[in-house]
Amino acid sequence: MEHNLSLYNSLKRTKQPFKPIHEGSVGMYVCGPTVYGDAHLGHARPAITFDILYRYLQHIGYKVRYVRNITDVGHLEHDADEGEDKIAKKARLEQLEPMEVVQYYLNRYHKDMEALNVLPPSIEPHASGHIIEQIEYVKKILDAGYAYESEGSVYFDVEKYNADHRYGILSGRNIDELQNTTRALDGQSEKRNPMDFALWKKAAPEHIMHWPSPWSEGFPGWHLECSTMGEKYLGERFDIHGGGLDLMFPHHECEIAQSVAAQGHDAVNYWVHNNMITIAGKKMGKSYNNFITLEQFFNGEHPLLSQPFAPMVIRFFILQAQYRSTVDFSDDALKAAEKALQKMTDIYRRLQNLLPAEKSTVEVPDFLTLCYEAMDDDLNTPMVIAHLFEAGKIVNSATDGNVKLNAEDLAKLRHLFDVMLVDLLGIRVGTEESGADLKPFEGAVDLLMEIRKNAKEQKDWATSDLIRNKLAELGFDVKDTKNGVEWSVR
Ligand code: ZN
Repeated sequence: MEHNLSLYNSLKRTKQPFKPIHEGSVGMYVCGPTVYGDAHLGHARPAITFDILYRYLQHIGYKVRYVRNITDVGHLEHDADEGEDKIAKKARLEQLEPMEVVQYYLNRYHKDMEALNVLPPSIEPHASGHIIEQIEYVKKILDAGYAYESEGSVYFDVEKYNADHRYGILSGRNIDELQNTTRALDGQSEKRNPMDFALWKKAAPEHIMHWPSPWSEGFPGWHLECSTMGEKYLGERFDIHGGGLDLMFPHHECEIAQSVAAQGHDAVNYWVHNNMITIAGKKMGKSYNNFITLEQFFNGEHPLLSQPFAPMVIRFFILQAQYRSTVDFSDDALKAAEKALQKMTDIYRRLQNLLPAEKSTVEVPDFLTLCYEAMDDDLNTPMVIAHLFEAGKIVNSATDGNVKLNAEDLAKLRHLFDVMLVDLLGIRVGTEESGADLKPFEGAVDLLMEIRKNAKEQKDWATSDLIRNKLAELGFDVKDTKNGVEWSVR
């Protein structure tokens, strides 16, 4: 079928039909994690948002090169720790090699992403592995006249750039407003203007991660790695650049300025941003005492959580909102998402167990087309979920014996859930996720059900109750229905 995907382009401030630069293939760059701590919700939302886009682009026939970088050079927090790189600081305090810190958190990040069923990107480049390319990029900006050297560091000249181009084109800020609001920070005396940002920074003696350059032993500025690696792996022009809304300014604004300065034009056709997550109405942050890591969600060990929440509950919760709207996390909201997900996976399981009737006694709407229309409309996942629940009503009616479905309608509904719920929303449904490994397990439970049924027929209530109660203890839900018995794992 024909797909007309439209995406909201933050630069144009409107939804635009998606057209790739090269027919049939898409280049997508998403700002990845800074690996100096455990992943939290702020990492989960962009990862899941762009996982949906990645899955959908491939589903509708594109070959996608998805680049998600690893920020392992750290970035400066002038006011917090006097300019020391966060990874370096952690390494120094914990007596580790910086790359040991990076690898430790990167492994944990990958584990969290796998739990959330986020597909790995095509390329995951490290900033620390692209120092040479970043130095070359700085040179290009210097040659173009939009940067200057000062005491071993190189800064981007925002004012000069703004005179020829427009700084603030993405975020809608203007330079006068910025002049007034930019704080005077450490290193400002080296800068011509407090707005200027570092392309290369001379390392202080206690700074343990540094590389040689024509200007000093030092390290690249944070904004530079994304311009450099985006161009290296996707070319001077590529289709999609994604990230959280918090990165729009200054990070992405600076990326645009760097690209325009170095190569005369922005590298990106569609700037796509996911909105933020708040916790009980508040911004998430260490200072608010509401900083919950993904691992804490999964094991429930945080004062704000009353129980553990499975990774699929987190994923489902995030997908219940369109990516451009804000999401507010609370324990209650997560419990509601858990219930909704259970309802959805019950529908999926019932659908697998239904037997076809000769004739359908209900008309099954073309839910698949409706879901595609929702996905095409800037990835409207809450609408897809709503359509699936509508389809679920028919499945539940059929399970209760109130309506009948013929083989064709059953196949249509199964295809709908396999495509939309499993492949595109990436929800792992009950036991199906592990496939063949669980076949013997399912067979054994079905056998117990069979024994229980025979026991009931012979009025051997003791055996029948024993089986049901033992299974309940083990975490199974066993329900007697009109058509026999139904079981699931809680
Ligand atoms: Zn970035």
